[in-house]
Amino acid sequence: MIPSAFAYHRPETLEDVFELLSRHGDRAKLLAGGHSLLPAMKLRLAQPEVLIDLGRVRELAGVAVEPDGTLRLGALTTHHQVLTDPAIRQRAPLLSEVAGVIGDMQVRYRGTLGGSIAHADPAADYPAALLALEAEIEVAGPGGARRTVPAGEFFFGPFITALQADEVITAVRIPPAAGAEQGWRWGYRYLKMARRASDFALVGVAAAVARDAAGVAAAVRVALNGVTGAAYRATAVEERLTGRVPSAERLAEAAAHAVDGVEVDGDALTSAEYRAHLARVYTRRALEEAWQRAGDGANLAAAG
Ligand code: FAD
Repeated sequence: MIPSAFAYHRPETLEDVFELLSRHGDRAKLLAGGHSLLPAMKLRLAQPEVLIDLGRVRELAGVAVEPDGTLRLGALTTHHQVLTDPAIRQRAPLLSEVAGVIGDMQVRYRGTLGGSIAHADPAADYPAALLALEAEIEVAGPGGARRTVPAGEFFFGPFITALQADEVITAVRIPPAAGAEQGWRWGYRYLKMARRASDFALVGVAAAVARDAAGVAAAVRVALNGVTGAAYRATAVEERLTGRVPSAERLAEAAAHAVDGVEVDGDALTSAEYRAHLARVYTRRALEEAWQRAGDGANLAAAG
């Protein structure tokens, strides 16, 4: 449980981060909250010779609302901030709800949004919500290179993302909710099945549903974590509900398609059959509650 020896750097600018990355190459690892990397180092699953601590890079910190209403969360935003920050709770309540079920208080105080996304554990909680919110990931590379990757093109497989070895996640961008001019009201729900509180998800479902003035589901987005190697949008469910009045029967019928076309993982924790069953049941429940919330506007309980 003791990591192998490493050198430690704490740069204050992104330029210095890239200089260190180019000097040390794949012997170096970026460090954010350390709640995935340090356990891996203690188990010697990761043995970086150099750690580059991002904690003092100001460009990676902060939460801002841009003029068009886009919410920008710096990569260093902790799970606790995602749970409690008033701007995030108001503009991305789904993300706050997700943060509230990540690990325990210690994990939430240290772990970061950027670190979780970069790590891309298939059972991590944020990816489904980022897919359902149609978020974008801001990435910086050497020489001032910048790009923005839609969440739907970011998560490829277990611990595999669109991020290159010499790139750094700088922020996550959440666009404003669509349909405000048509009077759409959005309801959100994240539901997670885990063996005990503070554990990783066996299955996690993020649902976002827009209710129009006529009581129709004008837009439906459903995404799942923990089911297969990477989070995915359950388009077969979405298509069955979009433009319809989602009665209890229709929601149940649509949710039965939550794992269509997906190779469901079986592992030491649960069989593929049971995980698929959980995915369908949690999809139905998340949709029912999101739809109800779209009606009464109560998207979040008080911050924990
Ligand atoms: P670190 O551990 O510092 O880094 C993780 C990886 O990301 C490293 O490879 C690092 O190089 C890279 N990285 C970090 N920041 C960047 C960046 N800005 N750009 C590019 N690469 C970067 N997670 C859940 O989702 N749900 C849970 O229920 C849950 N439970 C947990 C319980 C425990 C006991 C623990 C220890 C962890 C748990 N986690 C859970 C994981 C937790 O959310 C981690 O905080 C998160 O996965 C990693 O974030 P971090 O800031 O700690 O990253």
